[in-house]
Amino acid sequence: MKESAKNNEIALTGQYLGVVEEYLPDKRSTYVRDGQIFATKAGIVSINEERRAIEIKSHQDKDRKTVKINDILIGTIQFLRLYSVGINFATINNKIHFNSSYFGNIHVSHISHKFIEKIADAFQITDIIRAKVIKQEQNEFSLSTVGKDLGVIHADCSICGSPLEKIGQNKLKCSRCGSVEARKLASDYGNVSESLRY
Ligand SMILES: [Zn+2]
Repeated sequence: MKESAKNNEIALTGQYLGVVEEYLPDKRSTYVRDGQIFATKAGIVSINEERRAIEIKSHQDKDRKTVKINDILIGTIQFLRLYSVGINFATINNKIHFNSSYFGNIHVSHISHKFIEKIADAFQITDIIRAKVIKQEQNEFSLSTVGKDLGVIHADCSICGSPLEKIGQNKLKCSRCGSVEARKLASDYGNVSESLRY
């Protein structure tokens, strides 16, 4: 059974949202096929609890499209280098910029107050992180995860792919295969809901 969309979740174009018995579909942002509701555009799922009406709301276009110093963003680690990591991000200050894909770098010296010897002790590819913009050079942004609210907010086991559970400060464990991994964690690691992650 497919899972129905929840309020404030992100929907992508064509995504399954639920069935007509469950929600009243909006004509402009959804379509119905065989009693199933799908999104006709990407945006935020908006469910009116009283009317059980579902629609997809666009990211507000009046919001600025540029990234500024001190913005907080959420992104995914794309690659690890010797002294930095690359991050793809589309969420800035809790707003989703669907049509823009920004790119940022975190230098090893901007990961934590503590000394980080190897990048791999703090991040792995596919980790979802929260970071702050500290500098811009042309189209690339320098980011920082220094501070307790910043760092990894979701990580999967590098061996088996299961979500990792926090077992200590900057320490995660896989309940499936037992692998123990180090990360620079945000204080709310594991408590970030699907909708806030993005
Ligand atoms: Zn595992």
